Amino acid sequence: MSQSNPYISVVIPVYNEEKTLQELYRRLTNTLDALGKPYEIILTNDGSKDQSSKLLQELHNRRPTQIRVIEFNGNFGQHMAIMAGFERVRGEIIITMDADLQNPPEEIPKLVAAMEAGHDVVNAHREGRQDSWWRLFVSKMHNKMRAWMMPRLVMQDEGCMLRAYRRSIVDLMAATGEATTFIPALALNYASNPTEVGVAHEERFAGTSNYGFYKLIRYNFDLVTGFSLFPLQVFTFIGILISFFSFVFVVYLGLRRLIIGPEVEGVFTLFAILFFLIGIVLLGLGVVGEYIGRIYQEVRKRPRFVIRKVLE
Ligand code: UDP
Ligand code: MG
Repeated sequence: MSQSNPYISVVIPVYNEEKTLQELYRRLTNTLDALGKPYEIILTNDGSKDQSSKLLQELHNRRPTQIRVIEFNGNFGQHMAIMAGFERVRGEIIITMDADLQNPPEEIPKLVAAMEAGHDVVNAHREGRQDSWWRLFVSKMHNKMRAWMMPRLVMQDEGCMLRAYRRSIVDLMAATGEATTFIPALALNYASNPTEVGVAHEERFAGTSNYGFYKLIRYNFDLVTGFSLFPLQVFTFIGILISFFSFVFVVYLGLRRLIIGPEVEGVFTLFAILFFLIGIVLLGLGVVGEYIGRIYQEVRKRPRFVIRKVLE
C-alpha cells in the first residue's frame, strides 16, 4: 500500500481544540486503521490561540506521512479551513468532520460504504443531537427556511459537517474560488448522485462551541446569499405590493377630500404607516448591502486564506 496515494482523505478544521486533539487522533486513527485502506488526515489550524498548533506538530511527527498539517496565518473560518485541505487532498474519497468529536469518527466506515455503493456525495444527519435548545431551535427554523428558499439543496441537516465527497466534486469545489461559501451546499450543486445517512451525535468532548449568536447569523447569511437571490426578490415583491396599496390609498384620500373635505385627524395614522415603510426600506437596504458586500469581497480578489506553513 503506497502512502503517497491514499484512498481516503479526512479533512478537519481546528480552532482552539487543544483539549480534544489527542482523543480525536486516537479515535480517528483507530477507526481508519481498522478499515485497512491507505489514508491521510489533513488538519488545518485556523489561527488557534491555544496550544493546538504545538499539538498538531506533535501529531504530524508521530505519523509524518499520514498526518498533514496546514497552518493558517489567522482565523479564516471553518469553511476556508476545509477549502485549504481540499486544495491539497490526494485521496479518492474525501471525508470532512469537526475536530470537537461531536461527529463520532466511528461513523466514517458508514460513509465510505455509501460512497462505494456509487454515490458522489454522502451527507449525514445527526440523530439525537446533543446541543443547547436554542441551537436546535435556530437549526430547525433554518432548515425550514432553507427548504423553502432553496429547494435544490435537499439536506436534512446542514449543520453536520461529517460528510463524504468524491474527489471530482472536491476538485470542483476547490476550483470555485469564492471567498464566502458554504461547503455542503456547494457540493450539492455539483453532485449528481447524493445520498444521506444517519449518524450519532455526541456532546462536545471539551471546550465550548465557537459559534456564538453573531457568528450563527453571519453563517446563515453566507448560506442564503451564497446560494439564492430570494431575499432580493422578496423586496421587489414587497415593493410592488406597497406601491399598489399606496396607490389605492392615495386615490381614496383624493376622493375623500373631494366628497367629505380635507382630513386632519388621521395624521398619526399616516405617521405609523410611514415608520413602517421606513423600516422596510432599511431592512431592504441591509439585504442589498449583504449582497454588495459579497460582490465587493469577490472583486477585490484577495486570497481567501493565507497559509503560514504546511507540514507534510
Ligand atoms: N472551527 C474553525 N474555525 C472557526 C470556528 C470553528 O476551524 O472559526 C472548527 C472547530 O475547530 C471545529 C469545527 O470548526 O472543528 C466546528 O466548530 P464548533 O464545534 O465550534 O461549531 P459547532 O459544532 O458548535 O457548530
Ligand atoms: Mg461542534
